[in-house]
Amino acid sequence: MYAGRKVEEASIFDLFDRPFHPYTIGLMGAVPQGGASSQAGDRLADISGTVPPLWDLPKGCAFAPRCPGASARCLEERPPFQEKRPGHWAACWEHDNAA
Ligand code: SF4
Repeated sequence: MYAGRKVEEASIFDLFDRPFHPYTIGLMGAVPQGGASSQAGDRLADISGTVPPLWDLPKGCAFAPRCPGASARCLEERPPFQEKRPGHWAACWEHDNAA
């Protein structure tokens, strides 16, 4: 969910193996990894910016102001929630990255 809208849906295995939506990918990057390579003071990855207010959503994709892959189309047109791979749905214009 992002800004009150479902942006990705898949089996838990497919979602964790191959997340599609940049917001999901950002959330995955914020998961603490732990392990021997972790050190005190390590910082978690974050997603820059803030969630827009629901009463003032951007014209196109609500995630566009925070998305590293936003295009001109993203700023103008709201992406539909579509099946990108069998059983894996997302609301994102970046179709080519789904294969
Ligand atoms: S539609 Fe565009 S701005 Fe929205 S998540 Fe996909 S790439 Fe990013």
